[in-house]
Amino acid sequence: MKKELELYLHTPFCVKKCSYCDFLSFPADEQTQEAYVEALLSEIAWYGNVMRDREVTTLYIGGGTPTWLAQEQMDAILNTLGENFEIRRDAEVTIECNPGTVTQSKLQSFRAAGVNRLSVGLQSANDQELKLLGRIHTYDQFIKTYEMARNAGFSNINVDLISGLPYQNLEAFSKSLQSAVRLKPEHISVYSLIIEKGTPFYEEYKFDAVRQQAGLPTEALPSEDEVYRMFKMTQYELKEAGYEQYEISNFARPGYACRHNIGYWTRADYLGLGLGAASLIDNVRYSNTRELYDYIRLAKEIKSVPLSHFQEETEPKKPEPQQGIATNLHAAADPVSRKAQMEEFMFLGLRMNDGVTRADFERFFGMQIEAAYRKEIEELKAQGLLTVSGGRIALTDRGMDLANYVMGKFLQ
Ligand code: SF4
Repeated sequence: MKKELELYLHTPFCVKKCSYCDFLSFPADEQTQEAYVEALLSEIAWYGNVMRDREVTTLYIGGGTPTWLAQEQMDAILNTLGENFEIRRDAEVTIECNPGTVTQSKLQSFRAAGVNRLSVGLQSANDQELKLLGRIHTYDQFIKTYEMARNAGFSNINVDLISGLPYQNLEAFSKSLQSAVRLKPEHISVYSLIIEKGTPFYEEYKFDAVRQQAGLPTEALPSEDEVYRMFKMTQYELKEAGYEQYEISNFARPGYACRHNIGYWTRADYLGLGLGAASLIDNVRYSNTRELYDYIRLAKEIKSVPLSHFQEETEPKKPEPQQGIATNLHAAADPVSRKAQMEEFMFLGLRMNDGVTRADFERFFGMQIEAAYRKEIEELKAQGLLTVSGGRIALTDRGMDLANYVMGKFLQ
């Protein structure tokens, strides 16, 4: 049987940069987009050849705004992926979509090319909040996009929301949440706003964010307590509406949890293609260059390089692991130590409501989970933050409220 692989493909272009966004995304002219797509096709073809012993179980096209690319460009990307990779018939194939960048015909062509999941960025159902966030769309435009997606035959749609926006109170957030629920999408993600360095929001709200984190009175941002109540409201309302919380920020109708994301949290092998994309293959983490013009230039002559290429001159040379997949496109390639693998297993796995199992730990590391983490597990259990039952270790409700504290315990 072939080894499994998840694929991620990054398209960094957006019509306009949102005020809170620190993703690798930016506006670009048509020529740049054209050159980027050509580079991407070259990278796809190269890796398709290298990864012939793998079958793709999930494909996620993210960004940026993938749906902003011209229809022919996305057709070319999807065709090239299909020609070069063995994509399983039951693979989950997702495209991220922003309202205001799709047409009915684009959506139909995605469906025809095998895309079976759409992730739509709503963020808020309030036009004033959308404007404040710097989004290009209104709530009405979102509704049109959603209807077009259903008409095109998408039966697996995610809607993204953000809570804790500046000037947002519990009631305003509740309205956005209810608007999303009324549409009955299969999946809803709700992330709390994080004020990231380097964004216009950081300049505007950095002091307020510090006050918020310290539990002090805030001006524009909701208080820490309000943000917490938004999280609890999300859990309650979505459960009432028939959604299962399967991860801290992710809720799905039964059978619609995002397989691609579960792969990240269970440390499945994934290959990231495109600008700045990260990969985890055979316990080596790779990341592509984040420089657009380097990426475009280097992808034309993509070639493999030994892993030792990424080691500092001063570092003692590590033994070369099995043939890596490193290329001249990578800015870094780091073997993940066994200790770091265990830490990742714990803090990524515990993000999910199902948590981690003893059996999986033993299968991956050939030792019992208690041999590595007895003290941490017992302490967190005694504090009521972890439950241990039937070979499964998971966060309690309280543990989920204090998830960062719990995860921190597994990072030494
Ligand atoms: S659409 Fe998404 S990726 Fe693009 S700028 Fe806005 S938040 Fe960032």
